[in-house]
Amino acid sequence: MTGVDTVTPWPMYIGGVHRMSERVSPVFDPGNGMTVATVPAASSEDALEALAVARMGKDIAANMPTHQRMRILHQTADLIRDRRESFAVLIATESSKTIREARKEVDRCVDTFRLSAEEARRQGGEVIKFDQAPGSENRVGYWQSGPVGVVLAITPFNDPLNLVAHKVGPAIATGNAIIIKPSELTPLSALKLAETLYEAGLPGPILSVLTGLAADIGDLLVQDPGVRMVSFTGGLKTGTHIAHQAGLKKISMELGSNSPVIVLADANLEAAAKASVSGAFWAAGQNCLGVQRIFCEDSIYEEMKERIVQLTGAIRVGDKMDESTDMGPLITEREATRIANWVNEAKSQGAHVLTGGVRKGSYYQPTVLDQVSSGLIVLEEEVFGPVVSLMAVKDLDSAIQQANSVNYGLQAGVFTRDIGKAFDAIKKLQVGGVMINDSSDYRIDAMPFGGVKGSGIGREGVHFAAEAMTEQKVVCFNV
Ligand code: NAD
Repeated sequence: MTGVDTVTPWPMYIGGVHRMSERVSPVFDPGNGMTVATVPAASSEDALEALAVARMGKDIAANMPTHQRMRILHQTADLIRDRRESFAVLIATESSKTIREARKEVDRCVDTFRLSAEEARRQGGEVIKFDQAPGSENRVGYWQSGPVGVVLAITPFNDPLNLVAHKVGPAIATGNAIIIKPSELTPLSALKLAETLYEAGLPGPILSVLTGLAADIGDLLVQDPGVRMVSFTGGLKTGTHIAHQAGLKKISMELGSNSPVIVLADANLEAAAKASVSGAFWAAGQNCLGVQRIFCEDSIYEEMKERIVQLTGAIRVGDKMDESTDMGPLITEREATRIANWVNEAKSQGAHVLTGGVRKGSYYQPTVLDQVSSGLIVLEEEVFGPVVSLMAVKDLDSAIQQANSVNYGLQAGVFTRDIGKAFDAIKKLQVGGVMINDSSDYRIDAMPFGGVKGSGIGREGVHFAAEAMTEQKVVCFNV
């Protein structure tokens, strides 16, 4: 897995069966640009076959008893835990994460499968008090939840294992069949996960993984009436396209953001600076929760600036596999170039680069900007790279107003010791989650996770994804 000579062709899976193809899609190591593997470029015929298999798989999934779903999900968690290092090496090879970041993703993935196993047992329903409606005194009954049928999962490059787990775990827990279309940039972790699920006993027809290019199969899969839910994680532009294509089916949209952190004068500045820097540069800023805009009250602005620049300057950028590396490359050189262009545009409009601002191939140095004029792309859009902007604000209201002024709203962080101000921020910030005394980059896999505005529709987090993958059926006896 290290050079062109050792390129391995990987199969994809249709209903648990290996499938190769003449047309392949290369997978690159973003650190050195080398091809590390090839995967099949799924054709429209492959997609149609996967859809037909999934229609069969949905009946197998729906009829599988809860104890069996739980056993498969726990067994998958065990196998991933036992193979932690090989999963981590794979993530760090195909994606831009460092080996230490990759290990954390594997650990979270084990947790996601454990939560999914537990969720399987909680799926149920409740008694309905029919006699609350006059004339219904003789009715008794309940509602029960059942699977939607076939779920299509489309996933991004930045967490190539755990974001797949966040869809496949709840889908199995709720008795659905699932087709996964992983990012063309990082399909290997999803394929290794599928192998693990089959090994844990998942019947083949319940799961297919189609690799290759979205342009070849994306619309066909999304439009298919047999697909009852599209669960998408990715960028706003792609999500908008998919929402238009999907037609009358459930959609869940986990999209991007340009998350704000607000630091008030009474905060613990050391903790605020540390969390903000970690949140801005984790996974080289390629993180939907990543800190992109930091608002500091005027009186502490200079101190925060000094702390943030100092911590950012100490980040070690380099070889992903080196245990001492803090930050790896961007996913492609093209992305690094886009980010350099955005920073150059900000500079040309008067922004100061306090540290960083240098690109070398697919690497971009952790970068801190200040004096960024409002309306610039580095503030308005999602950078999805290692660039953070600092802004001085006169008070909390002004910070909230600027934080809310963009078309995204995933999570926000607020640092303060004043409980009244914390509740004011919680009430007014237009986001899916407010972290008090943490940066926006805080998540556990059990919490509801998702955004408002351009950051998406619906919530993931195992219980919430499971709920979205079910329909309620009412049962009523007229006695
Ligand atoms: P992307 O939108 O470019 O691609 C995401 C997936 O969509 C890929 O698998 C891609 O192949 C597929 N796709 C593209 N066009 C398609 C089409 N027409 N039909 C079907 N599928 C299609 O996103 P990316 O660059 O891989 O990931 C980065 C984005 O994901 C960022 O915006 C980031 O914020 C977001 N993200 C959000 C969350 C969240 O939970 N909210 C988590 C991680 C990443």
